[in-house]
Amino acid sequence: MNDLEPATGTTDLAGTGAAWGERYSHALMNTFGAPRRVLVRGEGPYVWDADGERYLDLLGGIAVNALGHAHPTLTAAISAQLGTLGHVSNFFATPVQIALAERLLDLAGATRRPGSRVFFTSSGTEANEAAFKMARRTGRPRILALEGAFHGRTMGALALTHKPAYREPFEPLPGGVEFLAFGDTRALEQAMADDVAALFLEVVQGEAGVRMLPPGYLARARELADEHGVLLVLDEVQTGVGRTGAWFAHQHPDLGGGVLPDVMTVAKGLGGGFPIGAVIAYGERSATLLGTGQHGTTFGGNPVAAAAALATLGVIERDGLLDHVRELGSRLSTALAGAGPLVREVRSAGLLVAVELVAPVAAVVSERALSAGFIVNPVTPTALRLAPPLVLTWDQVSGFVDFLAGLPADPAELEPGEGS
Ligand SMILES: *Cc1c(COP(=O)(O)O)cnc(C)c1O
Repeated sequence: MNDLEPATGTTDLAGTGAAWGERYSHALMNTFGAPRRVLVRGEGPYVWDADGERYLDLLGGIAVNALGHAHPTLTAAISAQLGTLGHVSNFFATPVQIALAERLLDLAGATRRPGSRVFFTSSGTEANEAAFKMARRTGRPRILALEGAFHGRTMGALALTHKPAYREPFEPLPGGVEFLAFGDTRALEQAMADDVAALFLEVVQGEAGVRMLPPGYLARARELADEHGVLLVLDEVQTGVGRTGAWFAHQHPDLGGGVLPDVMTVAKGLGGGFPIGAVIAYGERSATLLGTGQHGTTFGGNPVAAAAALATLGVIERDGLLDHVRELGSRLSTALAGAGPLVREVRSAGLLVAVELVAPVAAVVSERALSAGFIVNPVTPTALRLAPPLVLTWDQVSGFVDFLAGLPADPAELEPGEGS
């Protein structure tokens, strides 16, 4: 194999979407259902499928591809690191890992609390597992989470996840977790006590359809956590790294402005598409709950992942993407709210957007959108979710507003399967 051959060597990757779909069904577990398309290439906010069709990626790999696809700065940072030092065990450290930890502590405002430290993982669920283990180390038995919460699919994170269909096939799950009514301050006040280890919250519940905590809830949670010595854990796996127009959603003035958590978990957008997650522990108490030998990971802190994250954070800052996300997010949500009679309301925080429809036709509309060249996700039966690359522009996305506005006014006219 010479230097000019593709990285896949001799593996032949030609083939139609139908042929690849058939091969998928025999080679991969059916955990995700049939893939909607087989994708072969991406550039900026666009991807192309095996049959050469182009799509505007308004889902961004579920809030992951912050810089879009094949961003030159990200690509260069990853190849440079891989060509220098691609992996070491956690018996060793690398400068890029340390620099990323420092950068995250700074962006998270954790430097305001002495002793703050970071633990790296390779995914969001692993970040929440680590936070779960931290909660156990307090020695307290109870953990609180909210109805509608999604924290991941591994056993600990699943125990914190509310949806019965995700949980029940895997019971018994790690115990001690109680679910509180979403956004209900009274319920929170009643549940918080000195035997509670941790309260897990999402500032915006992404998987539940982009649901914001009501104003004041987070501030009250902070007060009660202080009063009872409870760890306030914010899961910013979906909302972090610029998604809402702030580095982290809880820093956004409309969403939580100023409240500092004790623990924050991040992942999805952090590596711009390269797998990485992190747990940020604020202050000495949180940061020392996991002692030497009490937790570990082979891949967490991998230098290539760290380089990808540093490059992603660097581009967001260099290109002023937080301002851009706020501006485009508000322009887009206003336009979507006026995009025809099928739209009931739009909920958004920056570029995390749910379009609530007047009827349970999100899956059909999402199929229609795909056929028209737009990738969106039916996050609930009645809502479409958009979590596009932060580099998206109005000119690129305005066609989707037109598409939505052009759908039939009567939901009954949307035939399931049509156009798919
Ligand atoms: C996606 C998500 C997770 C799980 O992250 P994975 O990387 O899929 O394990 C956890 N919490 C929230 C809020 C998420 O959106």
